[in-house]
Amino acid sequence: MSATAPDHTIVILGAGYAGVPMAHHLLKRTPTSIAHVRVILVAPNDALFWNAASPRGFLPVDSAKSSANPKGTPGFGDDRLFYDLAPGFAKYNNESGAKRFEQLLGRATSLDPDRPTVDVTLLAGDGDGAVKKTIQYDTILIATGSDMADGMPFKIVPHGGTAETKAALASYRAQVEKASHIVVAGGGMTGVEVAGELGSVFGSKVVGGPAPAAPKSQQKEIVLVINEPLPLGAYSAKDSVRRTAANRLTALGVRIVNNSKVTASAARGGKTLLTLVGRDGQASTLETDVYIPAVGSTVNTQFLPERLLDTSSEGRRRVRTRTTLQAEGYDNIFVIGDAANLMAPSIKNVTEQLEVLAPNMQAYLSNWAATRGEGNTTHNGRVTASASAAAPLKEYSVNDTIVFAVSTGPAGGTGQMGSWKLLSYLIWLFKARFMGTENAQEYANGNRTFRNTKW
Ligand SMILES: Cc1cc2nc3c(=O)[nH]c(=O)nc-3n(C[C@H](O)[C@H](O)[C@H](O)COP(=O)(O)OP(=O)(O)OC[C@H]3O[C@@H](n4cnc5c(N)ncnc54)[C@H](O)[C@@H]3O)c2cc1C
Repeated sequence: MSATAPDHTIVILGAGYAGVPMAHHLLKRTPTSIAHVRVILVAPNDALFWNAASPRGFLPVDSAKSSANPKGTPGFGDDRLFYDLAPGFAKYNNESGAKRFEQLLGRATSLDPDRPTVDVTLLAGDGDGAVKKTIQYDTILIATGSDMADGMPFKIVPHGGTAETKAALASYRAQVEKASHIVVAGGGMTGVEVAGELGSVFGSKVVGGPAPAAPKSQQKEIVLVINEPLPLGAYSAKDSVRRTAANRLTALGVRIVNNSKVTASAARGGKTLLTLVGRDGQASTLETDVYIPAVGSTVNTQFLPERLLDTSSEGRRRVRTRTTLQAEGYDNIFVIGDAANLMAPSIKNVTEQLEVLAPNMQAYLSNWAATRGEGNTTHNGRVTASASAAAPLKEYSVNDTIVFAVSTGPAGGTGQMGSWKLLSYLIWLFKARFMGTENAQEYANGNRTFRNTKW
């Protein structure tokens, strides 16, 4: 280590598909001749939640099939969904002797970009019993993503961290096991995938549909309520893809109630009473054993000052982000993933942004080290002419090509790339079998992203 390189504290908010690889990259790839980087990761989860596989996490785990069957396994337990972060980060503290990495288990509650500090509320008190901390940073990365509506455990639950998310999934698994009737609401990717997982294992005959594969003894009635004539309306998907999704679900034994919305749910004697309102305005009720809402999401930017947010209806209160992946007005605030307003929320987009953000943060750190002491950066990182002119950062260009893959259980699914409909075989091969979990441990350890195997 160079004795003269300055210290630089980088706070990363969020430990998802974006925050975890960036923390590793900064610790691994920042030359110590440029800066002695100290990374503080603030997030409620101490394990990477492989949430893309969470639809399979609502099913009871069949221990007879829980090994990684090469054809795919129904029902994922915690071992397939959560990947401890501490082992992967331990090496940064051991090697240097200094504490270069620290995780604070909690959530950012407010950020003052002009001081610049971030307030954090911890899930549990620290050694001194304090539950609130204020951290002074040099640079911050906002990677706080989004939560699913109703606090559903398709993401880390808003009322807790890893343990609470595991508990929420365990509760659903137990309810699903006992149920004879299950309603999933939402015609997006999440609703379709959950219904497909349930149908693959428990599907029962739908009027007009073929006989499903599930043995009679384990059949349950699975209903998917969607607010459009066909699922996947929100992705500009072709009609043929949407029809395939509907047909696959029906063949698995999922009954689709279309053109309807669940507008209310109420507990009633151990069951849940749902109110449905059709597009024609007609209301009806549906009683079920388990209700799984998979509708809507909230962007996790509540802790940010209003001036940093895109408050337009399209912006959805995401951070106003420049193509360099820096917040408007502040060079030392970087943004990535679902929290940034540049593109639609998806792992594909996170993956593409990582390829720009990682070199940009390195270039930024070099600039910071080079201009430090010359009096041409403000201490709070506000954009100044000379600082931003120092070295151009890469520009992220939004790739609007429609690409998505939706699994309907471990055996396959449907999807689209540009104007091409993807064959179920391809969905099975690249997604449905393992839902990406085959690489999750390496991802959590910082050795790879989806695209880059030498991260
Ligand atoms: C069920 C489901 C399946 C999906 N499947 C796919 C798929 O197959 N392909 C695809 O491309 N996309 C998929 N997506 C979308 C994908 O999950 C998101 O685009 C992706 O998670 C975004 O990653 P992120 O790191 O930006 O945010 P997130 O994954 O949301 O992670 C955010 C992190 O920030 C933490 N956090 C939240 N608030 C705070 C705070 N105030 N302070 C500190 N930390 C905070 C969270 O706990 C979490 O650690 C799916 C989404 C869902 C819900």
